[in-house]
Amino acid sequence: MPAPQAGRRTWTDQAVRRIEADFNRSADTHLIPIELPHYPGIELYFKDESSHPTGSLKHRLARSLFLYGLCNGWIGPDMPIVEASSGSTAVSEAYFARMLRLRFIAVVPRSTAAEKIAAIEFQGGQCHFTDDPGAVYREAERLAREVGGHYMDQFKYAERATDWRGNNNIAESIFYQLRQERHTVPRWIVCGAGTGGTSATLGRFVRYNHYATEICVGDPEGSVFHRYFADRRTLTLERCECLIEGIGRPRVEPSFIPEAVDRMIVVRDADSIAAARVLSERLGRRCGGSTGTNLWACAQLITEMAAQGESGSVVSILCDQGERYASTYFNDEWVASKALDLAPAMRAMHEFFAGLGLRVP
Ligand SMILES: *Cc1c(COP(=O)(O)O)cnc(C)c1O
Repeated sequence: MPAPQAGRRTWTDQAVRRIEADFNRSADTHLIPIELPHYPGIELYFKDESSHPTGSLKHRLARSLFLYGLCNGWIGPDMPIVEASSGSTAVSEAYFARMLRLRFIAVVPRSTAAEKIAAIEFQGGQCHFTDDPGAVYREAERLAREVGGHYMDQFKYAERATDWRGNNNIAESIFYQLRQERHTVPRWIVCGAGTGGTSATLGRFVRYNHYATEICVGDPEGSVFHRYFADRRTLTLERCECLIEGIGRPRVEPSFIPEAVDRMIVVRDADSIAAARVLSERLGRRCGGSTGTNLWACAQLITEMAAQGESGSVVSILCDQGERYASTYFNDEWVASKALDLAPAMRAMHEFFAGLGLRVP
């Protein structure tokens, strides 16, 4: 007897089709070469994830989380979707929830910037506020139960919702786009860690495909991830003073798989912000802070490669657009208010591009 489940399966079929059709209408993101005329034999590329419809690499994650929830039978018709995120994940999930005509509620700290709330609401989402920023996870879980919804839980599911063997994950797309380059297999791929999902996907993909590429994670000084990488006993920090949005966490998130990462480079916030500014000058448009963290780590690796006479390529990720940070990373008063001095790091970055290598100030 075709029970009520049958209607639900029809709805699920249509929901999966909608997401796939949206994907089919979309183009892949660009792999942008960054000229390094002073480092012969070394190429640098940035995979431009800011060009997704919702402006960041979280677009891929949100699509994967929705497909995972739908195919698990966890997401059904008229079911509100709840997430603990005040950032890019909420914006991207709101986009997919609207596509499926589902209500989307982001649980955010009351201190969340007005621009971010506006971005979530622009995509059709709602915000639910908590006074204690540390309580967003618990509150999201509780709220999902109360409204009969589904708690997406990006930090738990990011690594497993992405199909790491292929199916157009970011790793497969990068290697596909490198096919006609001088080096078709990069020496390094550099990314950050927020959920840890991107580094897990990249690390698994290169092992599965027998590529010699190593994965390097650039991590803010205040983050727990690099401490955990060095010593598995460090799982949480009292707090994470990190200013770089999207990366750096006070607790080791379940989606961070340290064994899939070959190396971590610690990057100070001032170095990340200076690098984001210098890269923005070179691209002619602004990129976000975590992209700066990535560039700083790339510059360190390229400096080492050049010193050892190695040739090869380094690929990293342009995670999101800098327009989101006009009042922070690109605002000198904000930088001064955080007691940061960008001048030494700006100089170091300009010297790097001039061929002198990265000399950490
Ligand atoms: C989430 C995020 C990252 C880190 O990616 P994960 O896959 O979550 O580790 C980097 N930069 C930005 C802007 C992000 O939003």
